[in-house]
Amino acid sequence: MKKLIVITGASSGFGAAMARLFNENDYPLLLLGRRTEKIEELHLTGNVMIKHADVTDQSELSEAIKSAEKVFGPTDLLINNAGIMLLGNVWKQSSKEWQTMLDTNVMGVLNGMQIVLPEMKASHHGTIINISSIAGFKAFQNHAAYVASKYGVHGLSETIRQEVAGENVRVMLVAPGAAETELLTHVTDHDALDEYEQWKQSMGGITLDPKHVAETVKFMYEMPQEVNIREVDIAATLQD
Ligand code: NDP
Repeated sequence: MKKLIVITGASSGFGAAMARLFNENDYPLLLLGRRTEKIEELHLTGNVMIKHADVTDQSELSEAIKSAEKVFGPTDLLINNAGIMLLGNVWKQSSKEWQTMLDTNVMGVLNGMQIVLPEMKASHHGTIINISSIAGFKAFQNHAAYVASKYGVHGLSETIRQEVAGENVRVMLVAPGAAETELLTHVTDHDALDEYEQWKQSMGGITLDPKHVAETVKFMYEMPQEVNIREVDIAATLQD
């Protein structure tokens, strides 16, 4: 019997693509985001629960997960996907933007892991997949605070992987390259945005289709519990 999968940031981009794919494959789902109406618009049917959850608010996130677990049983897979990228140079970017990225991309992941890990450790079963970025191991200009947040996701994922491996709990990491999602729509620094677009055009307008990230995540999860595909970097072939 298929077990509960929780996806944060299911309202667009990679999260929506993963929601669609796991729904097509009949997994019980808890789909989270702040814009729940966008998740409703996916028109998924079957064992799907949609809840408002800001990943920076641990009690709201916890309540949402606990309410789904009452219906579907313990979380077997948590996908910490919610994230935000606000490009800019440190000497002119608002510190509020750094804080938003660190709170969402780092604290959000820690919040989710803290909620599900006690039960996973006790039951010696469960998987967490954190969505990082190629910017989690490689620098990009205009990305300092985002790079800091994603290096953080790489570091915390590998640390916790080591800590819970002995209890048969898997921590995995996916580091995607550039993809066409809503990620760039929040950028307020238009020069940085123009440079990003030029970088993409210099590589033939690279695009990674979110559905390929979703298929990768599904493949990693469906490996037997004794196999941990610890990290996958996936990018458009043309990306440098
Ligand atoms: P989108 O902007 O399309 O999706 C981001 C998702 O995160 C949305 O569903 C949004 O939902 C959610 N989100 C943002 N902030 C919060 C918050 N505080 N609480 C809860 N949910 C939140 O971007 P992507 O699909 O591209 O991004 C998904 C992940 O992939 C991110 O972690 C991103 O860093 C990473 N990534 C993206 C790449 C790209 O080029 N697109 C490349 C590499 C990594 P809502 O607003 O409804 O809350």
